Amino acid sequence: MVGFTSVELREMMDKKKNIRNVSVIAHVHHGKSTLTESLVAAAGIITHEGDVEVPMAGTHADAGEPGISIRSTGTSLLYEMNNEWLKDYRGERDGNKYLVNLIDSPGHVDFSSEVTTALRVTDGAVLVIDAIEGVCVQTETVLREALTEMVKPVLCLNKMDKLFSELQVEGVKPEFTGEEAYQILSNVIENSNAIMATCDADRIGNVQVNPQNGTVAFASGLHGWAFTLTGFAKKYALQFGVDETKFAKRLWGDHFYDSTTKTWTREHSGSKKCKRGFVHVCYDPISKVIKACMNENKSGLWKLLQKVGVNLRDDEKDLTGVALVKCVMQTWLPASTALLDMMICHLPSPLQAQKYRVENLYEGPLDDKYAEAIKKCDPEGPLMLYVSKMVPASDVGRFFAFGRVFSGRIATGMKVRVMGPSYVPGMETDLYVESVQRTIIWMGKKQCDVPDVPCGNTVGLIGLDACITKSATLTSEKEVVARPIRAMKLSVCPLMFVTVNCKVPTDVSKLVQGLKRLVMSDPVVLCSQVEPGTYTVAGVGELHLEICLKDLQENFMDGVEVAVSSSPVVSFRETVRKSCDPVEKKFRNNQIRYSLSLVARPLDEEVVEAIEDGRLGPRTDHAVRSEILAKHGWDKDLGDKIWCFGPDVVGPNVIVNRCKVIQNLELAKKVIVAGFEVVAKEGALAKERMHGICFEVHNVNIHADEALRHTTAQLIEMVRTALIESQLAAKPRLLEPTYIVAIQCPKSALSTIYGILHQRNGSVYEEFVREGTMLHILKAYVPVYDSFGLCKAISTATSKLVTPQCIFGYWSDMCSDPFQANAPAGQMVLDIRKRKKMGRPSFQK
Ligand code: GDP
Ligand code: MG
Repeated sequence: MVGFTSVELREMMDKKKNIRNVSVIAHVHHGKSTLTESLVAAAGIITHEGDVEVPMAGTHADAGEPGISIRSTGTSLLYEMNNEWLKDYRGERDGNKYLVNLIDSPGHVDFSSEVTTALRVTDGAVLVIDAIEGVCVQTETVLREALTEMVKPVLCLNKMDKLFSELQVEGVKPEFTGEEAYQILSNVIENSNAIMATCDADRIGNVQVNPQNGTVAFASGLHGWAFTLTGFAKKYALQFGVDETKFAKRLWGDHFYDSTTKTWTREHSGSKKCKRGFVHVCYDPISKVIKACMNENKSGLWKLLQKVGVNLRDDEKDLTGVALVKCVMQTWLPASTALLDMMICHLPSPLQAQKYRVENLYEGPLDDKYAEAIKKCDPEGPLMLYVSKMVPASDVGRFFAFGRVFSGRIATGMKVRVMGPSYVPGMETDLYVESVQRTIIWMGKKQCDVPDVPCGNTVGLIGLDACITKSATLTSEKEVVARPIRAMKLSVCPLMFVTVNCKVPTDVSKLVQGLKRLVMSDPVVLCSQVEPGTYTVAGVGELHLEICLKDLQENFMDGVEVAVSSSPVVSFRETVRKSCDPVEKKFRNNQIRYSLSLVARPLDEEVVEAIEDGRLGPRTDHAVRSEILAKHGWDKDLGDKIWCFGPDVVGPNVIVNRCKVIQNLELAKKVIVAGFEVVAKEGALAKERMHGICFEVHNVNIHADEALRHTTAQLIEMVRTALIESQLAAKPRLLEPTYIVAIQCPKSALSTIYGILHQRNGSVYEEFVREGTMLHILKAYVPVYDSFGLCKAISTATSKLVTPQCIFGYWSDMCSDPFQANAPAGQMVLDIRKRKKMGRPSFQK
């Protein structure tokens, strides 16, 4: 159904049983965008005159790699299922019309935060895999992420055209038999299921995919065709005189058909005429049709087409070559039908999905009215809306808050309570009340105003850009006890940064504004001030930084020129390796009496992980907190005594109160937390962020005349000095980020690649040949510090045949003494301090 109006679209939004919110996820270049576009072409969108073009999505054509998508893109499709298809559908439904909201997300690792934000607002995912390349590193990552978000996957084996020798592309194995093609496909499915089996996703139900049930599609996005085995069975079961469901079962696995005896068996008979069901019913007929098209054997082709029930128009009959293949295949097995049928029949509606997703989504008790409303996807319940990203609007400097309504409805003019990521119940930080100026939905790349949007749908909101930076939970103004929706766990973090300033010093305010916009536009980028007029922009990798700087200059600076004054520099972390003896501090003058005793010690690796996963944090329920910490030897009550996590309220360091009694508790806590927040961002060694440090306060005594303004600042500074001293006494260490570099390459490129990795202190820890292909898979650890230009070097050395992927691996201990100026860690401390104009450290020998 091509073309529908915003009124029709809005009507569909009320039929929550007939909505599917779907992400398209894959390794880079496996064909997501091509596939999504072929769906849009078939089940598309009308363009409204008067609608405004919105840069909802981006493909940066010249950003390092050609045509790589870097922002996720939303598209709504309206699709009418036919009765024949729906007769076996057991789920609840409301008529035959379906609304499919599709989000195409980028595949490059540097932009995987865009995948996370897409998954949050969808309930199902189409995992696209290049049938020849098979499961790649990013395939695994995005699949795991989908299951963590409780998003149900179906599989689309793409680029099927490459399995037919007539359409053979260079570099692929010269020719496949049907049986070989089957083995390759079967392998990819097995590998995907193996990954899913290791994920704890029971609550979604059965997530394993199985071609026999119709949860695997075989597609060529480029040529616009696709099929599922259930689809084939529907078409041809009758010809074979078998029941549809039974027939579909015979199209995969060990089911063989002997065309001489016209019988099905579970074992190969040995006869030449005996073929696997899949090969006989699906592969061979497609192969014959393609061959007839490519060989211009038109009379043969018409016969074949008659057999499979395809009629071409006269003008189509004149086509030749690949154009004819496309036309024939699209008429016979249109991709949109197969894929949309699969999404509608096998992916959950918001109503089904929210029943189990609520556990993952809602931070509050699962029996309060907000959880109930999310569970039921209740449009009459209280508003619960999660803003997953901010999208630059066409008027420069304005942003849409893009998100998903989980319960209730959002409407233009509504006053909403905005809870940001640092909001803690009962406190005022990161909490705002604001009015929604406009409520917007997207029709393809166009935006339309609607009066309201009910739960189960995605939405864009205007008017909230002053109070949301990257993400937030919205509820209605009066719902003051609603807890927020859990923050997304991004799989990437800023690891490298550049320094920027203005070419003309008086433009600083423009730069500050530009950086603010940049921070909003991207889920991970961070900016901070080095000194007035000079700022850092931190991103996850070289490509990410390049795109961010380009966005900053071209889209956010109002024409003012930015100067990038350094090449990318790596961020380090500081930690400690042992527990120090208590560090005692005392001070006394007329206004202040102060004494403090502190211990710094390492946090267990698993505790750090739990904090970084979001399982442990300032809003975690106390019982859960104690349970996690008890596993690592913490006293039962100690979990309750964590004063704060840091930096930025949720970081992987804590400060714990171990005092028996504290006089003047409020003041003591206030200054200690403030001092901790400063050092957690700027550690003792080189003012890098802290990672995995626990500070215990053993004794504190503060008396001060708070009326004197400067006393608080003075107290915080004293606390800071004490924290720094305790860190230095606890065997401090410098941590450096390490990439996992994943490479797939032909054997001939191995020695070149090993050479390049070696030059960059890389160590290969895994190498194997992917089953069914001749590709070698390498995985190596490479220090981020040594990684600059690595991808380009490998790509150039292999004539662009190989594109490595760098994924953050872990923070690795530099294992040498930062106190020794001639040790690598000590040298690094000096380098960083020099860059930060900090001077020589007193602790170094
Ligand atoms: P994405 O990175 O996953 O969005 O992938 P794209 O859709 O941008 O496709 C990457 C490359 O694969 C492009 O050169 C496409 O032309 C090519 N491609 C996409 N789909 C197919 C397909 O079905 N068959 C073949 N042979 N190539 C395809
Ligand atoms: Mg793409």
